[in-house]
Amino acid sequence: MSEIWVLVDKAQDVVRNVTYEGLAAALKLKEKNGATVCAIYVGDNAGAIEADLGKYGAEKFYKVENPALSDFNPSLYATALSEVIKKHNPDIVIGGNTLKNQDYLPRVASRTSAGLSLDSIDVDINSSSALEIKKYKYSGKSIATIAFHDVKPMIATVRLNAFKPIEGSGSPEVIAESVELPADENYKVVETKIIPKERPELTEADKIVSGGRGMANGENFQIVYDLADSIGAGAGASRAAVDSGWVPYEMQVGQTGKVVSPNLYVAVGISGSVQHYAGMGSSKVIVAINKDPDAPIFQKCDYGICGDLFDILPALTDEIKKLG
Ligand SMILES: Cc1cc2nc3c(=O)[nH]c(=O)nc-3n(C[C@H](O)[C@H](O)[C@H](O)COP(=O)(O)OP(=O)(O)OC[C@H]3O[C@@H](n4cnc5c(N)ncnc54)[C@H](O)[C@@H]3O)c2cc1C
Repeated sequence: MSEIWVLVDKAQDVVRNVTYEGLAAALKLKEKNGATVCAIYVGDNAGAIEADLGKYGAEKFYKVENPALSDFNPSLYATALSEVIKKHNPDIVIGGNTLKNQDYLPRVASRTSAGLSLDSIDVDINSSSALEIKKYKYSGKSIATIAFHDVKPMIATVRLNAFKPIEGSGSPEVIAESVELPADENYKVVETKIIPKERPELTEADKIVSGGRGMANGENFQIVYDLADSIGAGAGASRAAVDSGWVPYEMQVGQTGKVVSPNLYVAVGISGSVQHYAGMGSSKVIVAINKDPDAPIFQKCDYGICGDLFDILPALTDEIKKLG
């Protein structure tokens, strides 16, 4: 029986939503090829997560636990995953398009002679029984369909928020795998800092409010945060605002920042450059607030408010707060 593997992504003992999104993508593929949907954890200690994985569609759960994997080391992670791939020979491996996966999956593909494609927004099985994915090209101006050809496994990452988790019930068969890991003298994690987040992480946020050069300075970003907090949104920014030193780089959305896919993206004082659009064009609903009626963002949004953001944002926040 062929298998589709979904990489488990865990942060601070919690399975991240992107794992369940990957399982949803795998369940879609299973409808076409009847493969077994499996979750696979690579790390030091999986914890009791099998019930959660089963609930979202995992029929099997491979656990690759090793103390040497307590810190993320791309080389050791690649060794561990490659070894179990060679042993079990899955047809397809799916992971979230996280920085971690972008780092080590190319190494896995190289070591297992696999095909690899990153940042899929849709997946399918074509008439040749191969994995076919869709992904944005040219900064979001077109969508390419890419089919894997005569290669196994086929490894793909899926854009965060591109698939909706499918909740059901189930209890996966748990298979523990042990791997020998060589000492790695080349790579040493000196310190791990967990930055407390006041707002949802952008790549996982359901709603985002972002500010651009129109905010004029860092202090004015407070009205972006106020609107974001009134609707439980993450706060982002254009590169112009980041380069001006108004907000940290971790808030940058775009080609050289984070790629986001929320249900609602509010672009405030952002002109709508192709590079910014590359990072937020797959948002389900885009709202633009800009005083220039010819700003390109108005060609790309679902709802546009033409006016001064310093009038509109506080008024909007007040109205939302009144709704309770
Ligand atoms: C290789 C490369 C990579 C890049 N990567 C990124 C990236 O990852 N992310 C990114 O964002 N950019 C990126 N850029 C930069 C990008 O080209 C634009 O320069 C940038 O997105 C512009 O940011 P902005 O829209 O905030 O500023 P501007 O283009 O200057 O737009 C500011 C907007 O604010 C409006 N405005 C001003 N005052 C007000 C007001 N009071 N009320 C309402 N509206 C107002 C203006 O009408 C204007 O439309 C990249 C560029 C290159 C070359």
